[in-house]
Amino acid sequence: MTQTKPSTVRTRIAPSPTGFLHLGTARTALFAWAYARHHRGQFVLRIEDTDLQRSTQEAVEQIIASLRWLGLDWDEGPHYQTRRMARYREVIQRMLADGRAYRCWATPEELDAMREAQRARGEKPRYDGRWRPAPGKTLPPPPAHAPVIRFANPIGGSVRWDDMVKGPIAFANDELDDLVIARADAEAPDGIGTPTYNFCVVVDDLDMGITHVIRGDDHVNNTPRQINILRALVGPDGALPVYGHVPMILGPDGDKLSKRHGAVSALQYRDEGYLPEAMLNYLARLGWSHGDDELFGPEQIVAWFDGTHLSGSAAQWDAAKLGWVNAQHLKRADDARLAALVAGHLHARGQAQGADPARLAAMCALFKDRCTTLVELADWLGMYFVEPARAEADLAHHVPPTIRPALEDLRGRLAEVEWTPGAIGAAFKQVLAAHALKMPQLAPALRVLVCGRAATPSIDAVLALFDRQTVLARLRSV
Ligand code: GLU
Repeated sequence: MTQTKPSTVRTRIAPSPTGFLHLGTARTALFAWAYARHHRGQFVLRIEDTDLQRSTQEAVEQIIASLRWLGLDWDEGPHYQTRRMARYREVIQRMLADGRAYRCWATPEELDAMREAQRARGEKPRYDGRWRPAPGKTLPPPPAHAPVIRFANPIGGSVRWDDMVKGPIAFANDELDDLVIARADAEAPDGIGTPTYNFCVVVDDLDMGITHVIRGDDHVNNTPRQINILRALVGPDGALPVYGHVPMILGPDGDKLSKRHGAVSALQYRDEGYLPEAMLNYLARLGWSHGDDELFGPEQIVAWFDGTHLSGSAAQWDAAKLGWVNAQHLKRADDARLAALVAGHLHARGQAQGADPARLAAMCALFKDRCTTLVELADWLGMYFVEPARAEADLAHHVPPTIRPALEDLRGRLAEVEWTPGAIGAAFKQVLAAHALKMPQLAPALRVLVCGRAATPSIDAVLALFDRQTVLARLRSV
C-alpha cells in the first residue's frame, strides 16, 4: 500500500439502533471505514438513537458486535445523539437569535388545510412560510400552545453538490420547505422541543469534523436540507463535507434487500459460518470495483479504496457468489485460526470440548478445501467427535458381506501399525493385495463405517486424524 500522510479525512457510520446491523449498513460502514483508512484519517461511530420508541440498547450492542466482528474498527465513539440534546438546543437557540430559525405555531389542522388548498390550486403542497419573519411583515400574536421551530431555508437559488458516487446533484431551494428542526413541546427547556433527525445529523457532522459523509442513497433527499442548515451554521466560507450516496442493495427479485430474501443481519452470517474477510470482500464488490479483482482482503480494500470506481447503480445480492467468495477465503485462511473458529461451532453442538487445537488445525487443513462455510467444515469434523449415523443404503451398497474378511484383516493391521498416514496407507494396500480387491471396493466401505459417508479426502490422511481406538471400534461395529 502506498503510504499517505495522516490526513484530516474523517468519516462516520451513523446507524439507528432499531434492530440488527443490516448488510446495507455494513457495506456503508465498510466504504466509510476504508476511505478513512486509505487516507489515514479517522472513522467515527455515531449512534442515532433519537427515535426513543424504536431504539434499544440490545440493538446498540448488536451493531457494535457486528462492526467488531467485521473488523471495522472506529477511532472515536460511539457518540450517542440522546446525550447531545443540550448541544442541539444550544445551536437552535443561536439560530433563533440570529433569525436563521423561527417559531411556528401553525397547528396540524391548519397545515392540513393549507396543503389541501395548495393541492386544489394545482400547487405542490409545502409550508407557506406563514410564521416566517420578513421585513415589513406583521406576524399574528403567538397562540398559547407550544410552537415548533423551523429553519429559514434560503429563498431562490439552488443547492448543489458533487456527489462522490452520483456526480453533480442540484435541488432548487423553492422545492425545500422550511424544515422543522425542533418539535413542539410545552414542557421543553427554553421552549425548544426535541430536535429533529435532520438537524441532529447536521450538528453532529459539524461538531465531529466529518469531512466525507458516505451513506445510503435513501438519504439523498435529506442532503440539500442538511447542506442549507450547515451553510447557515458555518457561514459562506466554511467548509462543507463531501457527500457520497451509495445505492441500495437489491434482492434477487429487484426489490430492496430485506428479510424476505433471507439473512440480512451481518451477525447472522457469522453464525452461518462466513468469515469476516469474505463478507468484507463480497460487500466491497457490491457497488465498487478494482479492475477485475474479485478476491482480496481488507488490507487491499484499504490500499485501493480512494473513493473512485463506486457504482451509481444498485447492486444485486447474490448468495451463491458470496458462498464462492467465502470458500476461497476459507482455503486461504490460517489453519490455527480456522481451528479456533470451527471449535466455536462444534462446541455449540456439544462437540469437541477439550480437543487439541493442533489436531483441529490439521483437520481444518484437510477439509477446508471442500467447504463453503465454517458450518460445513464443522459438519465434516463432527465425525471425529461423535459416532456418525450410517445410512442403511450406504451400508448395503458399500459394505457387502464379501468384503468383511478384508475389513477384519484391515482392523487387525491397523491395531498394530504406526499411526501415521504413510503406515495406514501401506496397511490398506497390503489388505487390497491379500484379498485381491481394488481400491474402490474397500475404500468406500471403510469410509462409510468410520466417517458415515462414502466420499472423503484421502482415506489415510482422514484416518490418521482419528485416534486409533475410535477407528478400530467403528470397524468392529459391522
Ligand atoms: N441513521 C441513518 C440510518 O441509519 C444514517 C444517517 C446518515 O448516515 O446520515 O439510515
